[in-house]
Amino acid sequence: MIDIDSFILPGVRGQAWEEVMPPVFDMDKCSLCGNCVEDCPGYILAMEEKGPQVAYPDECWHCGNCRISCPVGCISYEFPITMLV
Ligand code: SF4
Ligand code: SF4
Repeated sequence: MIDIDSFILPGVRGQAWEEVMPPVFDMDKCSLCGNCVEDCPGYILAMEEKGPQVAYPDECWHCGNCRISCPVGCISYEFPITMLV
């Protein structure tokens, strides 16, 4: 049986793969403009007082829209290698 954890990139080792796929926000850069929330086609994100949050992480399909729409480039993704092959 394949050990899935052994295929996960070092930066995310130890985390469940479901937990690392949704967007990650660098809140030091975020201007709270809300573009990412508005441009998510799946309504996965929600704007809260502290900033954008991934409200439905299991439903994010990693289309990249939120990252493209961010004017300050503070959204990143960490994909497990199992999604890259
Ligand atoms: S990657 Fe796509 S589906 Fe996922 S939160 Fe961003 S815009 Fe929404
Ligand atoms: S688009 Fe970028 S700057 Fe605007 S709320 Fe989303 S993460 Fe913050």
